[in-house]
Amino acid sequence: MALLNEHFLKLSDNSLFSEIEKKVNSFKVIHPKADLIHLGTEDVILPIPATAADAMQRAIDEMGKESTFRGYGPVKGYNFLIDAILKNDYAPYGIQFEPGEIFINDGAKCDIGNIGNILRHDNTIGITDPTHPMYINSSVLSGRTGEMEKDGSWSNVIYIPCRESNHFIPELPSQRVDIVYLCYPNNPTGIALPRHELKKWVNYALENDTLLICDSTYKAYIQGSDIPHSIYEIKGARKVAIEICSFSKCAGFTGIRCGYTTVPKELTAVTLSGERVQLNPIWEQYQKIRYNGTSYISQKGAEALYSPEAKEQIRKNIIYYMNNARMIKKALENMGLKVYGGKDAPYLWVKVPRPLSSMKFFEKLLFDAQILSTPGIAYGSGGEGFIRLTAFERKERCEEAVQRICRYL
Ligand code: PLP
Repeated sequence: MALLNEHFLKLSDNSLFSEIEKKVNSFKVIHPKADLIHLGTEDVILPIPATAADAMQRAIDEMGKESTFRGYGPVKGYNFLIDAILKNDYAPYGIQFEPGEIFINDGAKCDIGNIGNILRHDNTIGITDPTHPMYINSSVLSGRTGEMEKDGSWSNVIYIPCRESNHFIPELPSQRVDIVYLCYPNNPTGIALPRHELKKWVNYALENDTLLICDSTYKAYIQGSDIPHSIYEIKGARKVAIEICSFSKCAGFTGIRCGYTTVPKELTAVTLSGERVQLNPIWEQYQKIRYNGTSYISQKGAEALYSPEAKEQIRKNIIYYMNNARMIKKALENMGLKVYGGKDAPYLWVKVPRPLSSMKFFEKLLFDAQILSTPGIAYGSGGEGFIRLTAFERKERCEEAVQRICRYL
């Protein structure tokens, strides 16, 4: 008899996303011809840069010839891509790593979930509220969150409130926490952390021996000069932080799958007997056991993202999305709505007009304006009173969306 990992069962009633899906499906049944505008998606719409497509085409051709065919690659990734990352994503910010500190992943999500597997289940975890559900859900599966309370929170999670009153900037917990998940620029609030705020977290982690798991999936959207592009711009961070990055949102790799995870050699965790162990070789060992590497074709495409032509294309695509964000924000503000985010991230965090709940406003936008948003409550109780809109749509569709919202309001 195989016994189930019963932590899975704790998740079944957890997802407000399934409730949202049901509402969208019933809308589609009632209005089969409706022209729904999708401002709820996390997926990008613009294609990958042409140089990346060409590089992948060449990689496919190599695979088709015996002389250039490649089978399993290095689990940690090919050096050509690791070198490009070191040179382009870290060196310009004064950050030096050895190639062995970078692990190519198949997008950020798997590593965000898997990294917890090298850490004991009884570590305390700190998670911002609101938050993307993946940090909590993967922690639930490893039995780290305790039980779900009546209000939907988890008994063993230390919630770090990000509220309008603190400008959605996470405050340091009053107690010590073993592991803290930070996602900046943030999904869903669209807020990024300025240098002095990130510094507070690094200092907290150094003082409290806390591990920071930093999701930097949206770093390419940073516009502000006071916003670090990497946690490692902060002194001491390599002793306390893992950084997980992705080519999904900057370069349209959501379907291709490639990114990287940085595990510095200075980073350690402690055994129950008090021995300090480097996390870098442990993560390498974990990857060797559970992973066979990211495809050569994806990695060749990712390497090409660092060509001047691709960099220019990425820059233009980001401007495109951020112009959408700016336009929607301005239009909604002119309608009297309070809108946060959208400056350093492609997400807008819109305050719901009273007395509606976030779910009710989501439904109103869906049924009365035919716009798909995401109710803030889906990201935890701290998301109540807000909806999230994304800028991942065609410009004209965003313009149409604000007109519809205006008419509805
Ligand atoms: N992190 C955040 C905050 C995200 O919003 C997403 C996807 O939307 C991911 C990670 C996953 O990205 P990837 O496509 O790299 O797995």
